Amino acid sequence: AKAAGRNTLRFFDPAMQLAANERAQLEADLRLALARGELVVHLQPQMDEDTRLCGAEALVRWQHPERGLLGPAHFIPLAEQTGLIVPLGRQVLQAACRQLAHWAGHAAAQGLAISVNVSARQFRHPGFVQDVLQVAAQAGAPLHRLKLELTETLLLGDVEDTVARMRQLREHGVSFSLDDFGTGYSSLGYLKRLPLSEIKIDQGFVRDVLTDPNDAAIVHTILALARSLDLQVVAEGVETEGQLQFLQRHGCGGFQGWLFGRPCAIAPFEAAYLPGLGG
Ligand code: C2E
Ligand code: CA
Ligand code: CA
Ligand code: CA
Repeated sequence: AKAAGRNTLRFFDPAMQLAANERAQLEADLRLALARGELVVHLQPQMDEDTRLCGAEALVRWQHPERGLLGPAHFIPLAEQTGLIVPLGRQVLQAACRQLAHWAGHAAAQGLAISVNVSARQFRHPGFVQDVLQVAAQAGAPLHRLKLELTETLLLGDVEDTVARMRQLREHGVSFSLDDFGTGYSSLGYLKRLPLSEIKIDQGFVRDVLTDPNDAAIVHTILALARSLDLQVVAEGVETEGQLQFLQRHGCGGFQGWLFGRPCAIAPFEAAYLPGLGG
C-alpha cells in the first residue's frame, strides 16, 4: 500500500470512512423504511390565475423512527444513486393515485390535479410506463388528473425514448410539467419536441424578481416563451404578495409557494383547503 504513494492515504482517512459507513447505514435504513412504509407524502397547494386551489404537488418525507421527519434532501440523492428511487417513486405515485381516487368521489375536489416528481432514473426504468398505468388502475385514479413533473436532466439522455414514453402516458390522459425551468439544459428545440403541457419557473428566479432586474427579465422571457409555445406556467416559491402581483401582471397563470401554503400531511391539507370533504 505504501508503494502506491502518498495519495492512497486518503482512502484510510477516518473521516471518509465514517462518511462511507453513514452512507451504507442510511441506505440500509432507507430499504427498511420502504418496506415498513415510513415514507409519507405531503401536499402543497397549487393555485390558478385567480389564486383558487387547482391542485397539489406531492412531496415526499421520511418519518424516521429516531431522527424525526426528514425532507427529501436527506435521502433522495442517495435513493437516486442506489436505484431505490424506483420503488420509492412508485410508493409516492401510489399515494398520489389513492388521493386522486378519493377526491374523484367528492364534487368539491373532483377537479383537482396532483403533480408527482419523477426523477430521470425512475422515468427511464424499463417498467415505468406500465408501472404508472398499473398503480393508477389499482387505485382507481383518474389519469387525466395526474401530472408528472420531469426535470431537464432527462434531456441529457435518449430524447426519442423520453418522447415515446411521454406520448404513451399522454394517450392515457397523463400530463407533463417541466420542473425547475431555467436552471438546466433546455434548448428551445427540445422544449418544442417534448409533449409538455406546463413549465414551472424555478423559485430561484421568483425569489428576487422585485429587486433583481436580471431575474425579472428572465421571468418575463419565460412567460413570453410559454405563451408562444402554448404552455401553462406555474411559478414556484411565491412567498409574498408583491411577487404574486408581479407574476400576475406578466401573465403567469399558476402559483405555488408559502404565500398560499406550505406542504403538509394529507389530513391537514384537506382540513385547510377542502373543508366539508369528510373522510
Ligand atoms: P421541487 O420539486 O422543486 O419542490 C419544491 C420545493 O420547494 C419543495 O421542497 C417545497 O417544500 C419548497 N417550497 C415550496 N414553496 C416554497 C416557498 O414559497 N419558499 C421556499 N423557500 N420553498 C418552497 P422539498 O419538499 O424539500 O423538496 C425538495 C426537492 O426534493 C423537490 O424540489 C424535488 O426535486 C425533490 N422531491 C420531493 N419529493 C420527491 C419525490 O417524491 N420524488 C422525487 N424524485 N423527488 C422528490
Ligand atoms: Ca417539483
Ligand atoms: Ca421545482
Ligand atoms: Ca428544485
